[in-house]
Amino acid sequence: MTSIPQFRNEPFADFTRPDVRARMERALADVESRLGAVHPLVIGGALVPTERTFASVDPALPSRVVGRFAEATPEHADRALEAAWEAFGSWRRTPAEERARILLRAAGLMRDRKFELASWMVFEVGKTWAEADGDVAEAIDFLEFYAREGIRWSEPRPQGPWPGEDNWVEYLPLGAGVAIPPWNFPLAIMVGMTMAPVAAGNTMVVKPAEQSPAVAWQAMSLFREAGLPDGVANLLTASDGAVVGRHLVQHPRTRFVNFTGSREVGLEIVREAGIPRPGQRWIKRVVAEMGGKDAILVDADADVAAAADGIVAAAFGFQGQKCSACSRVIAVDGVHDALLEEVRRRTEALTVGPPQDPGNRVGPLIDGQAEGKVLSYVEIGRGEGRLVTGGRRLEGEGHFVAPTVFADVAPDARLAQEEVFGPVVAFLRARDYEEAVVIFNGTVYGLTGSYYGQRHLGDAVRDLEVGNLYLNRKCTGALVGVQPFGGFNMSGTDAKAGGTEHLLQFLQAKSISRRHA
Ligand code: NAD
Repeated sequence: MTSIPQFRNEPFADFTRPDVRARMERALADVESRLGAVHPLVIGGALVPTERTFASVDPALPSRVVGRFAEATPEHADRALEAAWEAFGSWRRTPAEERARILLRAAGLMRDRKFELASWMVFEVGKTWAEADGDVAEAIDFLEFYAREGIRWSEPRPQGPWPGEDNWVEYLPLGAGVAIPPWNFPLAIMVGMTMAPVAAGNTMVVKPAEQSPAVAWQAMSLFREAGLPDGVANLLTASDGAVVGRHLVQHPRTRFVNFTGSREVGLEIVREAGIPRPGQRWIKRVVAEMGGKDAILVDADADVAAAADGIVAAAFGFQGQKCSACSRVIAVDGVHDALLEEVRRRTEALTVGPPQDPGNRVGPLIDGQAEGKVLSYVEIGRGEGRLVTGGRRLEGEGHFVAPTVFADVAPDARLAQEEVFGPVVAFLRARDYEEAVVIFNGTVYGLTGSYYGQRHLGDAVRDLEVGNLYLNRKCTGALVGVQPFGGFNMSGTDAKAGGTEHLLQFLQAKSISRRHA
């Protein structure tokens, strides 16, 4: 590993610089001129067109078609799994350094095309410039990080001494797996979920979310360009992810499932993968990272302005469509009213509109279904609490909903318990820190959360039951290699993406004992 420098996080683009802004503007114009093209499946290195296709559209302007994509069927899924197993034979024997070089090449290509990839996300999922740039940076980080991790896990680990014997453990890939990512980090999560197992020597069938096939296609093209051998990653786009997704999960040839998405689908996958099918020779491994009801707890001695900044960024960044988004604020009596007022002021200052315009801080929701769901929770909120600001859809074709704050929400209210996945945050009042902790831990989820304050900093580390805890900072924006990411309880299997244990999810240990002659 000597020739590979130490991992460093990819810096974010500085859009205050005119030259950087100009590059992003050029990339947006270039991508806009390429919208609407038709893209095939990728199976065993072959580009496979299908008769039926489906469209991906711009959520800020749904009449604009971003691209048309091949419609995969269960038969395509069978072929893709076959291709992945065929490629596994040689990929598992490819030296880890060689595998890593391909990931590093892909990271380099991504760096060169940073603004282009960000532009695809602006058009396809409605990310603002900064959010799209953060997504690209995270994808680069995953490639860089897992490349190094693949090498590290490939080294035999000596075990305790025993007279007359050498004992060691080797970590081996599992086989052909399935990646089922969500649309909300369409590059970073898709790349991470595909290439972590690949770095460890596995091969993959990837079924991207139906809302973000264009970004997945860009990633796949880049893997191929970086030299990923045929069949190591196969791409199946489909307009109804449940059909092909379910087929892949149930398939006897699927060795493991790497899923990120909603709790409902994640639990179905855990259930379905647990049923052995005729011809199946293994227990399927399932990594399932799911939703959250993430809270920011603000204590009596907190810096109220800093907490308000953190809450607004975490609640409304990418329109609240992050698993880590702050959807509950638990404020103790002493600061509650001042904090609510600071949050209201900052929320009303947010500009909402098409993300192609860098002046907008909040873009559209992903689709009409998401819009309907968020607006239905606004109605529920009106019955359960006091609407402080927002609570309405904006005029026009796009799926824009104003950033929304509710106050006086009870801990057992639906708005305080269920994942909305949109720009809605509920304020809950607590008598003191102890009561705030009970409220904080009072959901089935356990993904991210923050504590703002000083006097209970140490207690918060012990008391708050989440996979990712932040002290005096917002609860979004985990960095690869810095804050390994994964949830407790119904938020997931705690796979800690971007951490040093992550690759172990896709490896099996062989314990070897050699008697001396
Ligand atoms: P989703 O569960 O609707 O879809 C996720 C993926 O599963 C998609 O590719 C979809 O096509 C596929 N799918 C749908 N039904 C399926 C089935 N029956 N069998 C197999 N696959 C199926 O989630 P989404 O709307 O894409 O993403 C939003 C959700 O993801 C939120 O709940 C969010 O909190 C969660 N999320 C979690 C994390 C995390 O790291 N914990 C990160 C991002 C998003």
